[in-house]
Amino acid sequence: MIGKFINRVFGKTPAAASPAAAPCLIPRADHGIGRELLSPCALKVIRELQQAGFKAFIVGGAVRDLLMGARPKDFDVATDATPEEVRALFRRSRIIGRRFTLVHVLCGQETIEVSTFRGHRAGSEDDAQGGEHRADENGRLLRDNVFGSQEEDAARRDFTVNALYYDPASETIWDCHEGYRDARARVLRMIGEPEIRYREDPVRMLRVVRLAAKLDFRIEEKTRSPVAELAPLLRNVPNARLFDEMVKLLLSGHALRSVHQLRAEGLHHGLLPLLDVILEQPEGERFVTLALKNTDERVRADKPVSPAFLFATLLWHQVLLTWRALERQGIKPIPALFEAMETVLHAQQEQLLIPRRFDAIMKEIWSLQPRFDHRSGARPYRLLAHPRFRAGFDFLVLRAQGGEIDPGIAAWWEQFQAGGEAERASMLLPETRPKRRRRPRRKSAAAADAAPPQL
Ligand code: ATP
Ligand code: MG
Repeated sequence: MIGKFINRVFGKTPAAASPAAAPCLIPRADHGIGRELLSPCALKVIRELQQAGFKAFIVGGAVRDLLMGARPKDFDVATDATPEEVRALFRRSRIIGRRFTLVHVLCGQETIEVSTFRGHRAGSEDDAQGGEHRADENGRLLRDNVFGSQEEDAARRDFTVNALYYDPASETIWDCHEGYRDARARVLRMIGEPEIRYREDPVRMLRVVRLAAKLDFRIEEKTRSPVAELAPLLRNVPNARLFDEMVKLLLSGHALRSVHQLRAEGLHHGLLPLLDVILEQPEGERFVTLALKNTDERVRADKPVSPAFLFATLLWHQVLLTWRALERQGIKPIPALFEAMETVLHAQQEQLLIPRRFDAIMKEIWSLQPRFDHRSGARPYRLLAHPRFRAGFDFLVLRAQGGEIDPGIAAWWEQFQAGGEAERASMLLPETRPKRRRRPRRKSAAAADAAPPQL
């Protein structure tokens, strides 16, 4: 209200009145970031580039995170040196090229990603000439590998808070898009025209949601509003790239909040089955919510998390439904489970992003589940020795917490693992299997082991 009033009286908001006048440089006295907050490797890379006569800055997420008082995951460097020039300066470095070429410089355990200033924005004359920046019919940039000035580099970044450049030598921040102001106001604002920028790269729709959840920032209305309508453009993004971004989101430590926000923005369709199928079924949502919460806690506690485990949880509800349906058709439990796993994974291959390399681990985690029912004889010992026992057990705990199985089973296994030899032996349940004639051995040892107790 007040903002609108000021707008009418002055023709623009006070904030909007300053950009032209504001110098791009913010001194340390204002932003408070000292060079000691950088990693030694990042400092070294920048120092050497600058000594060789190049411009070099810490850029992107690291500056933003430092401003917010958080420890950056990694430090990225932007420079006007070409990848070959960077490569020539650092012995332990290599040029890597995925979507665009950059250089990885190694010192000790650390890797610093050094990228050369990129030029160009879609809609430029270069596009019309079908140059390096060809776009598809929806405006999606197909290549983005032209070098440019620092100003151009800033303009092609996504959000204002991601276009801050920190120079450790002078301890100043170079900020030409008012990212500093937006960081203070905790707002994500797209640089340029949001709709064009989302069309250039629809993954930015996922990024805005992920970063808002991670930073606890508000999404500026103009930046948020085109998302619902443009969401279908995500279908045109190559799977590998969507998958990378989804993994970042799921392993961000804020997966639960991100997933809810994705849903609120209408971005959940066609991304992962977890989002459009599972979240719409209360039983599935409960399990996924628990799984995401658990992952978030682990990430925040700096514990390792396995993407395969997470995907196994995300797909479990579908496996379970298929498994039950097959059993109702008269198929025995274990063959039904194996068939359900195949069916679900096969269905995913067409629409889903999860690469096949995760299949084997997911299948192992799932197929271990019925084995936890056996708590007599030698089987619990064999299961305990299984290389994937820990993952299988963690999965079991989630199922128990979600109300799918008796929590007593998970508690039993918790105690069995922790117990000494005598305690374990005393915990074993009596054999319930009635004597019966020997049947020919099953083909798969895993399937035989997983067989449920005979009634
Ligand atoms: P995080 O803390 O999760 O790593 P980040 O902002 O650093 O967040 P990165 O994927 O590491 O994310 O990207 C580094 C920088 O590259 C961003 O800060 C942004 O300036 C730029 N960037 C990354 N992806 C895009 C994109 N799709 N479009 C425009 N700029 C991008
Ligand atoms: Mg980053």
